[in-house]
Amino acid sequence: MSFFKDIGRSIQRPNPNRSRRSPTPTSSTFPNAISTDSASAPPQSPLASAPAIQKPLYLCSPFVEAALVKGNFKTIVMLPKYVDIMEWVAVNIFDFFQNLNMFYGVISECCTQQSCPTMSASATLNYTWINQDRKSVQLPAPTYIDYVMTWVQNLLDDENTFPTKSGQDFPASFPSTIKHVYRQLLRVFAHIYHAHYSQILHLRSEPHFNSLFAHFLAFGREYELLDIKDVRGTLNAPVVGIGALWERWREMGILES
Ligand SMILES: [Zn+2]
Repeated sequence: MSFFKDIGRSIQRPNPNRSRRSPTPTSSTFPNAISTDSASAPPQSPLASAPAIQKPLYLCSPFVEAALVKGNFKTIVMLPKYVDIMEWVAVNIFDFFQNLNMFYGVISECCTQQSCPTMSASATLNYTWINQDRKSVQLPAPTYIDYVMTWVQNLLDDENTFPTKSGQDFPASFPSTIKHVYRQLLRVFAHIYHAHYSQILHLRSEPHFNSLFAHFLAFGREYELLDIKDVRGTLNAPVVGIGALWERWREMGILES
């Protein structure tokens, strides 16, 4: 399994595919007034001084219901007839990555070392990175996300990991590799929801972003690419961040319960 080796490689050479990022971000898209990462606690809110943590906007109506795709995602994730399951998983991961990369490309201007000094996913949850010495380290979110996206892009470009020619088999390590990919992409979604949802709303992209994420979750559950604990956190801890969103969507019937 080359996960740690690959991460080590991307730490030494962090930006080889930076130019593949979506070219869409522009400085005019986001006026300074909204370029903070305060989606969960708008400073102007009358509740801002209350000691309790405010409910994140993405859990509030109408945003939590906003979707391009109505109904349950079960039918979309089902394996089509005559399609190889590895091919199906590979092509879906490719699409999830491309779409997420595009969204992050658009909001990345607002995700800086200053605005996001940690890979935050809620007021109480920060993801850590495993470095080449296998130590858990805190990284600023843009650095963390750059490592993830570069690493995934390199895997997708690697014919030995994601073969595209007919007659070439997927490697035996494919299932475990894509689980690592899935977990890391989940974290990127989680950070965007937590820290940059106001920018998604500003772009009026919440239906698109919600549907992309719901599709990602449904697909991950269907093919066992996601552990529940990665989504909702450990059993005894309070559910925070995207774990709460996942639970809400299950209650609403958008995801399987
Ligand atoms: Zn950020």
